[in-house]
Amino acid sequence: MTKPAHTMPPPDAAERRRAPPVLTYSVEQLPLFNAAFYNGARAELSKVAELTVPPRDARAFEVPAGHFFRIVSVEGPQVGDLNLWNAHDLTERFYSGKTRALHATHLSTGGRLWSTFPRLRPMATITHDTLDWYGWDEDGAGVHDIIGTRCDPYTNLLLKGTEYHHCCHSNLTRALVTARDLPLEEAEVHVHDVMNVFMCTGYTRDTHQYFMKASPVRPGDFIEFFAEIDLLVALSACPGGDCGASHSDDAAKCYPLNVEVHRPLERVLIGWQSPPPNRYSRSHGTG
Ligand SMILES: [Zn+2]
Repeated sequence: MTKPAHTMPPPDAAERRRAPPVLTYSVEQLPLFNAAFYNGARAELSKVAELTVPPRDARAFEVPAGHFFRIVSVEGPQVGDLNLWNAHDLTERFYSGKTRALHATHLSTGGRLWSTFPRLRPMATITHDTLDWYGWDEDGAGVHDIIGTRCDPYTNLLLKGTEYHHCCHSNLTRALVTARDLPLEEAEVHVHDVMNVFMCTGYTRDTHQYFMKASPVRPGDFIEFFAEIDLLVALSACPGGDCGASHSDDAAKCYPLNVEVHRPLERVLIGWQSPPPNRYSRSHGTG
């Protein structure tokens, strides 16, 4: 969609457009990614749990603070839709919009996944990414986006007029129902915009529309996260498969995703603390 222009540009249009871009947030004020700490912690790991997310379905699992989890590509290229919650309070969940504003449209090693207000703190830190070589391609696309939402049956019905029940939104909802024994309607409202793990996306240069292309992920690739707080995690193996053609239907070839949870040595966590909730007073100008 091009933006229609019905208004004549003002005489100083060129000058107005020349205003220099300024990064919206002074991100140098954020806590630094302490590579030495995370690399030290991940140097010796014991695997404490492993599970498989079947294609076109989702699974939920817990990751205690101070543990790592990996999402591993197996069998074939497959995109995963990731949700994170505070394991003790589902109202604190991954905030993709603020994370995008603080970091970028796509995440890799060193990126943090921030939580919703009022806590706004890092829930997880990305500590390894075997797709970090991809960078930005000639279409302006990158891997692991936080600009998409999650494929869902509502948009699908709007666009195609049919019901499809294995969209990531529904898969994540069912996984949360099972994990927390919640009624379906109650679980659904906790499902939120995802991190699109392994997905390759961007905005078209001419019309700035969201596009996807076949993921470069191959079996053996993985992305690794450090849980900064106790996490409940849900991962859907998207019905789009590698998202090179379609989603929200049974057309794409889909593969499972593996999840591993790893514990570091106790001594490497000495001195490390879970990030506290944001300290804003929450008075909002009332007192
Ligand atoms: Zn999906």
